[in-house]
Amino acid sequence: MKIHEYQAKELLRQFAVPTPKGNVCFSVDEAEMAARKLGGAIWVVKAQIHAGGRGKGGGVKVARSLPEVREYAEKILGMQLVTHQTGPGGQTVRRLLIEEGAQISREYYVGMVIDRSKQRVVLMASSEGGMDIEEVAAKSPEKIHKVWIDPLAGLTASEADAIAKKIGIPDGAIMQARACLQGLYRTFVEKDAMLAEINPLVLTADQRVIALDAKINFDSNALYRHPEILAFRDLDEEDPAEVEASKFDLSYISLDGNIGCLVNGAGLAMATMDIIKLYGGSPANFLDVGGGATTEKVTEAFKLMLKNPKLNAILVNIFGGIMKCDVIAEGVVAAAREVHLKVPLIVRLEGTNVDLGKKILAESGLAIIAASDMADAAQKVVAAAKGKN
Ligand code: GDP
Ligand code: MN
Repeated sequence: MKIHEYQAKELLRQFAVPTPKGNVCFSVDEAEMAARKLGGAIWVVKAQIHAGGRGKGGGVKVARSLPEVREYAEKILGMQLVTHQTGPGGQTVRRLLIEEGAQISREYYVGMVIDRSKQRVVLMASSEGGMDIEEVAAKSPEKIHKVWIDPLAGLTASEADAIAKKIGIPDGAIMQARACLQGLYRTFVEKDAMLAEINPLVLTADQRVIALDAKINFDSNALYRHPEILAFRDLDEEDPAEVEASKFDLSYISLDGNIGCLVNGAGLAMATMDIIKLYGGSPANFLDVGGGATTEKVTEAFKLMLKNPKLNAILVNIFGGIMKCDVIAEGVVAAAREVHLKVPLIVRLEGTNVDLGKKILAESGLAIIAASDMADAAQKVVAAAKGKN
């Protein structure tokens, strides 16, 4: 799960990482009021969307007067902000962060992810912070320093200090950098993050080290133990189909293709997408209905897939283990009737009660194309999607 920058900063402050003072705002008037309350002479008006690269897209502006705060707030609120992370359609800006402006002397990059091959959290840091860290990683990877953190010891003071020195933090600011790095690591571990990034971490003109930007993604499987993180969820930033799916406990991911997939089990769902690709087709979604799919769940899954205007055909691929094929067949028939299915439907069933399941499909009177195995199913659905059937 992703959260906004202002929420990430709220968390980091709880772990003693200094950030600029600021407030989230939903209107131009609120933005001006927030700037007034902050005082000072420089403010930053920042678009809050679940994507990075806002600065380059025009979503981060430094204002030098209250009328300028209003002007930028007016411009950014409601804009369709396009960055390298939003895709060409961009993302609508509905929230702003109004912050006191910082006088930047240096910009650094620090970030953490889990390195699965080393089974540790890896801290990455670079002197080349700011807006082009992807380019640094691609062109001069030697400028990115790494520490693989021992889970028992945590990020030690000496490790933090050593990496801070390597990226060029001056001696007088090392203790502050240590607090930032250790705070970031504690946030990562205690909140079950998958990615935590401060870019830029800055050295101010008066030699303070602060987090000027913050991005944290969380492990959705651990959210049950973090209601405070779940409360940060902003459904406006998420794919509507995926939000709808989560209400019915369906694992659904929207993709670019035109073949809807309804499968039980994540592994089989991935294999199904692979084989569709192998035969030259393109899946419209990943969908795992889980082990205990009911008629209602299958119907909801059909409705979800059919909301996609690009959908040309559907492949149902079910392995009946605990789940019985006749139950699934009944669910498919009921769902297809309820949604008045207009696109070709290919069904491949295997496993417990498969003969009964096939009989139910055959006698349903629906134009269901039966497939004998996965390769057959994939070929049939690819042909159907291309209009050859
Ligand atoms: P991103 O582009 O989405 O990563 O947004 P950031 O929050 O990182 O902002 C982009 C850039 O805006 C930063 O790298 C800074 O150079 C600049 N910026 C952000 N806040 C301030 C500030 O308080 N003062 C100044 N002078 N620049 C800022
Ligand atoms: Mn940034």
